[in-house]
Amino acid sequence: MNRAKVDILGYGVDTFCFNEAVDYIYQTHGQVVTINPEMIEYGNKNSEFKNLINNAELVVPDGIGVKVGLKILGTSVERIPGIDLGKAILKRAQYLKKTVALVGAQQDVIENAVVNLKFEMADLNIVYYRDGYFTDENEVKQELLSKSPDVVLVALGSPKQEFFINSIKKQLPESVFIGLGGSFDVWAGKVKRAPKIFRNLGLEWLYRIVTEPERIKRVFPTLPLFIIKVIKERLLKK
Ligand code: UDP
Repeated sequence: MNRAKVDILGYGVDTFCFNEAVDYIYQTHGQVVTINPEMIEYGNKNSEFKNLINNAELVVPDGIGVKVGLKILGTSVERIPGIDLGKAILKRAQYLKKTVALVGAQQDVIENAVVNLKFEMADLNIVYYRDGYFTDENEVKQELLSKSPDVVLVALGSPKQEFFINSIKKQLPESVFIGLGGSFDVWAGKVKRAPKIFRNLGLEWLYRIVTEPERIKRVFPTLPLFIIKVIKERLLKK
């Protein structure tokens, strides 16, 4: 399987559909980034972050913003929500008998998430888990190195999780790493996911704003400004 990346405002995004992305992850290993307009905005201010994204082994369009942006630029891609990709990676890990580690979220959240995942996937081999509020990052890295899990899910929020993964991935070249934002909160049952109708319409962000109004600062003005920049790029390309 070969990557076919398309560019959006200087960021390469893979065009695999959901199932291809899962296959590719298990062929390739390395860092999976689930990209959204907030990350692109942050990368524009922090070149280290931008380089990290462009050097990731796989970059999937997580939010509706990147999907719509790519459509404006002439490419249709399937939206690949990190939380769904994370679950699919775990299901495949169970099937392939791979070992799994989870790092992130509050202590009670990670504990409940592990219980729920084990309930759903009884044969999932979780060899390590840890909350995301540690003070000694090196200690966590050492623990991961000693377990050398095949799959490492990191939910520290962005850009923290991407930097964390980037700083350890070379020491575990056979492992797959993915940053999953608030997914453990959902798996723990602490946060509800948007109902299917919202998800199908690509309006998960709207649901999250309504249920967590403090999020509005993160989506606005980033999302509309991002779309405006994409339209500008499209007009310049003509
Ligand atoms: N988190 C963490 N350590 C930190 C900061 C955040 O483990 O130092 C966790 C937090 O508990 C939550 C997740 O990271 O589970 C971030 O969720 P958010 O919804 O902000 O992420 P997003 O998907 O929007 O990037």
